[in-house]
Amino acid sequence: MKIVDIKTTLLTAPLKTPFITSLRRVEMLEDLVVIITCDDGTTGYGEGAPTPVITGETIDTMKAAIGYLKPFIIGKEIAELDSILKNIHSRLLHNTTAKSALEIALYDLKAKAEKLPLYRVLGGTKTAFKTDITISMDHTEKMIADALQAVSLGYDTLKIKIGDDPVKDAERVIAIYDALPKEITLRLDANQGWEAHEAITLLQKIETYGIIAEFIEQPVRADDIDGLKQIKDAVKTPVLADESVFSLGDAKRLLELDAVDFINIKLDKCGGISKALVLADLCEGYGVKCMLGCMLEGPVAIAAALHVASARAGTITMIDLDGVALLAHNPARGSVIFDESRLVLSDDIGLGIKNLS
Ligand code: MG
Repeated sequence: MKIVDIKTTLLTAPLKTPFITSLRRVEMLEDLVVIITCDDGTTGYGEGAPTPVITGETIDTMKAAIGYLKPFIIGKEIAELDSILKNIHSRLLHNTTAKSALEIALYDLKAKAEKLPLYRVLGGTKTAFKTDITISMDHTEKMIADALQAVSLGYDTLKIKIGDDPVKDAERVIAIYDALPKEITLRLDANQGWEAHEAITLLQKIETYGIIAEFIEQPVRADDIDGLKQIKDAVKTPVLADESVFSLGDAKRLLELDAVDFINIKLDKCGGISKALVLADLCEGYGVKCMLGCMLEGPVAIAAALHVASARAGTITMIDLDGVALLAHNPARGSVIFDESRLVLSDDIGLGIKNLS
């Protein structure tokens, strides 16, 4: 199967409710889809979610990066996937979301060439997963209402977005905790919103109240590694690195310093499936569990992430793949059963995407 064409198209879908974090507010999914075609007519789908405030990428930079890499991919046999991927990553630095979209489409093709679901090509067996859902940052009453609605839909793990004001954040978390059944698991994500001393004060306050969240995600700036370590050493709540970890080198540094308890792997940050697998293997070596997370990703990218989670199920023990659950409707057919918190991979070959609208 020789690669003969690479196209990109915009995938848009309205969200059920605006997505609000300490970094941004978004009302609509606007992702770039990559469609790679082989000489026998087989097509592979990829997708990336441009997130300028995190990866520095926009739809236009993604298109430019993919256009730049195109000559290094066209004409290659999909059987030479490893060398194609090596080329993609060595020819262009950064641009991790563009590269991830290309990687996803290439892996889709590889699995189609082998006539297997992608997770089996990657060595996985697990097919059923449970995701949390994001509760966007808002005034406390709205966050409580959103949290209660999520629980009524069957979610038992909620990811609470905070990080705009450490005092208000503590009050929000306590109010949400008090409003929810006690068996609900809370994950907290500050999206770099605090200083280390603020995070420590806040977390000690809620811990004294009896709240030990499953983790606090990225409490401080991405480059504040000392801050992460200080927080980890001072509080009981486990610390998870998100924006601090793009590359293998980022992860190695944090793991060597014992600065965090968990790492959030996202395809759009690390540069795609091959890189996510290597990151998970690195973490396994350090005995550190990972979460597989997403940006505001649609059904192609979320499917790819689930195939990776299946392939590294021993290390990827937490799933934060609610991108499709946040959409007013799913613009794709096939691949994954999206049933609120329950995500199930099918036995369709490749990623299994049948149609995008
Ligand atoms: Mg995060």
